Amino acid sequence: MSESLQPQEPVLVLGAGLMGRLLALSLAQAGHPVRLVDAGPPDGSGAAARVAAAMLAPLAESAITEPSVVALGQYALARWPQLIKGLTRPVYFQQNGTLIVWHRQDAPEAQRFSGLLAQTGRALPDLPRPRGLDSQGLAELEPALAQRFHQGLYLPEEGQLDNRQLLAALTDSLAARGITIEWNTRLTLEQAQDIQADRGGWLLDCRGLGARADWQAPGQSLRGVRGEVARIHAPDVTLQRPTRLLHPRYPIYIAPKEDHIFVIGATEIESDDMSPASVRSTLELLSAAYAVHPGFGEGRILELCSHCRPTLPDNLPAIHEVAPRVLQVNGLYRHGFMISPALLDAVLEWMQQGRKTLADQLQLRFSTLAARAA
Ligand SMILES: Cc1cc2nc3c(=O)[nH]c(=O)nc-3n(C[C@H](O)[C@H](O)[C@H](O)COP(=O)(O)OP(=O)(O)OC[C@H]3O[C@@H](n4cnc5c(N)ncnc54)[C@H](O)[C@@H]3O)c2cc1C
Repeated sequence: MSESLQPQEPVLVLGAGLMGRLLALSLAQAGHPVRLVDAGPPDGSGAAARVAAAMLAPLAESAITEPSVVALGQYALARWPQLIKGLTRPVYFQQNGTLIVWHRQDAPEAQRFSGLLAQTGRALPDLPRPRGLDSQGLAELEPALAQRFHQGLYLPEEGQLDNRQLLAALTDSLAARGITIEWNTRLTLEQAQDIQADRGGWLLDCRGLGARADWQAPGQSLRGVRGEVARIHAPDVTLQRPTRLLHPRYPIYIAPKEDHIFVIGATEIESDDMSPASVRSTLELLSAAYAVHPGFGEGRILELCSHCRPTLPDNLPAIHEVAPRVLQVNGLYRHGFMISPALLDAVLEWMQQGRKTLADQLQLRFSTLAARAA
């Protein structure tokens, strides 16, 4: 049991990326005075969350992650509409499934992928089943891709949202409660703990990769996994849902947002390099997108962006209790949007009720002082 959050108790949140903004708003809605600081500039460009495609695709991601992350993702899919409903501005949210396609010559890759999904299905029998598509099924589901691909897989119920709209809506909802993000304010954990000692209350460290020097879980170090995406305006292309192209060298996804804006991504490079997107990555992403639909050829490149995903050695997320009333939340890797509502609820349960029932149920790693002392 922890010492629970008292009514009106203040909370200091470090990092106004995805996790920090979500937590700050829920706590403000519960009546707590929240102070939210971020090292980056007001455009939010310090956060991986600004660059992300924000796909909510637990089954598709099960090809590269553990069943526990898939379960977090399933939980979060149901939570997003509730969270978005409480915001002051609309956020584009879609739950129209994911389409997976491949070129004929890449059938072995598709077979491998299907095998991995089948394994996930056995581990988590309640997940919606993938549906195989022939030419006709594919043409009915996604007419823009008829003739180009002759088979596919449909993963029902998966979703996506508009990350930038969400970040803006969270900021706006915070402001409506009198909380302005303190931008360009870089704090270490030690400095924040000094503030906490003066002010009392709780401290939540949600600095993503910025917490690297202070990430306290023993035996785990944070690293960056670089990702690059292109944001394209392509009025000639209409896709109803995120589409993934399986390819042995250039696997890509295309996430259609509103008004024919597409996020095409993403590279996955073991590196902390935050420099702009490389020519090679851009060529690969855009060629693959053009192969999926030639309408991208006439599209306009709005942005090429890159950032690093905050990642722990096993690529799984973690919550770490550093000291009484001090929590670190990190390691969201490439699944921040997919899983953050589950981490949000697990943190709130701990703060408000001193319990980690949800974390245990979802097998979310949550290291408490008591467990480490035992
Ligand atoms: C290319 C790419 C594509 C992605 N696509 C998806 C996707 O489709 N689906 C999905 O679920 N996830 C996706 N992600 C992952 C997702 O963006 C991250 O998991 C998520 O943003 C992590 O949230 P966070 O709040 O922990 O960190 P961040 O969003 O990075 O936020 C951390 C914040 O902390 C601030 N900060 C850092 N240091 C300090 C300091 N010392 N003091 C104060 N503030 C500090 C930073 O400025 C930043 O604003 C993608 C990521 C990338 C890079």
